[in-house]
Amino acid sequence: MNYTPVLCAKLRAMNIETLSVHAGRDEFEGLGVHAPPLDLSTTYPIRDMCAGGDALQGFAEGAATSPSPVYSRLHNPTVARFERALAQLEGAAAAVAFSSGMAAITAVVQVACARKRHVVAVRPVYGGTDHLLSCGLLDVEVTWVEQDSVAAGLRSDTGLVFIESPGNPTLTMVDIDAVVMQAADVPVAVDNTFATPILQNPFNLGAAFVIHSATKYLGGHGDVLAGVVACSQPWAARLRQLRILTGGVLHPLAGYLLHRGLPTLPLRIRSAQATAATLAVRLAGHQGVSVVHYPGLPGADSRGLIGRQMRGPGAMIAFETVGDPSSVVKALGLITAAVSLGSVDTLIEHPAALTHRLVEEHGKSAGGITPHLLRLSIGLESVEDLWDDLDKALSESVAIHPGAV
Ligand SMILES: *Cc1c(COP(=O)(O)O)cnc(C)c1O
Repeated sequence: MNYTPVLCAKLRAMNIETLSVHAGRDEFEGLGVHAPPLDLSTTYPIRDMCAGGDALQGFAEGAATSPSPVYSRLHNPTVARFERALAQLEGAAAAVAFSSGMAAITAVVQVACARKRHVVAVRPVYGGTDHLLSCGLLDVEVTWVEQDSVAAGLRSDTGLVFIESPGNPTLTMVDIDAVVMQAADVPVAVDNTFATPILQNPFNLGAAFVIHSATKYLGGHGDVLAGVVACSQPWAARLRQLRILTGGVLHPLAGYLLHRGLPTLPLRIRSAQATAATLAVRLAGHQGVSVVHYPGLPGADSRGLIGRQMRGPGAMIAFETVGDPSSVVKALGLITAAVSLGSVDTLIEHPAALTHRLVEEHGKSAGGITPHLLRLSIGLESVEDLWDDLDKALSESVAIHPGAV
């Protein structure tokens, strides 16, 4: 079997729709297959112990490939194919997959802050990331800054600048290019989960690490937990070394499903984004809604990032209800009340109670995570069915709270 990645020069120049279909599939003809082989082996027979030892040594030093995978904590060909595809979509040299988005973020913090233990970060970010950086478990110290004050937050021991754009849950957009300039030689990590590689490629703007909770849009069907980091080869080698030792590997079936989902990613994003754009406007005009956060609404993109940094406003909306947000959620029938996002079905959740519960109080207010904020991940249903559901639930919530209008 051939585990050597084939870098397809043809694909590099292609559009994102074509790349999404063909990336990571260059070796199929040579293998004589049409669908990617799903390799579930945990171990790989090697009769020659010297060759086995050399292969193991290579992986321990961060190699992407070796003549044998040796053991599936070191390498898995199915996962490696997804990694090559994702790296191509992000325009990065390499990608390293993990068992979850949080495992990926933890690995980035650990490799970047191995010697320099200080992190500069901009709120809001995903609640788990906020808590990870703040809680002291990784022995890093975080300074939270506004996006224009990143340079002022830097110290001689700053190992990483961490941002998310659009930010979870309020869709705040960060000017990645400007943050990279401010960070100078400190590596910048961008959580690109909300935008996906279809709408935004932070690596091309100078980010050192592009992180995805692949559980969300990349998986897209609510049945895979995964994380992935796109980066340079030297950083990928460090991440692979860490992954071998800490064991946060992605299961091959998850790698298979993620790779299987990539060809439809542009279609899913485009469809959900069109629906989100319509719903954001209608929500903004509803008497049961006080504020709508959506990058595509007039005045929302004050830095002019759509078109320059992002190819579209995306499919996530956040809004504040006039009435009680939990009664709005209870009154919904079609929309799934659940954390997570980027699935085929539309999901709604209450950040202050759930995804951002562990963010400290002043962090919540700094990040705009108010008690009445709901986060909506638009799926692939018909826009009119979604609107019927939202309109009915929101109108009921105002009717039972007449004093609040
Ligand atoms: C969900 C999420 C994460 C965490 O990913 P898991 O796969 O749940 O570990 C990180 N960042 C963002 C923006 C997320 O939405």
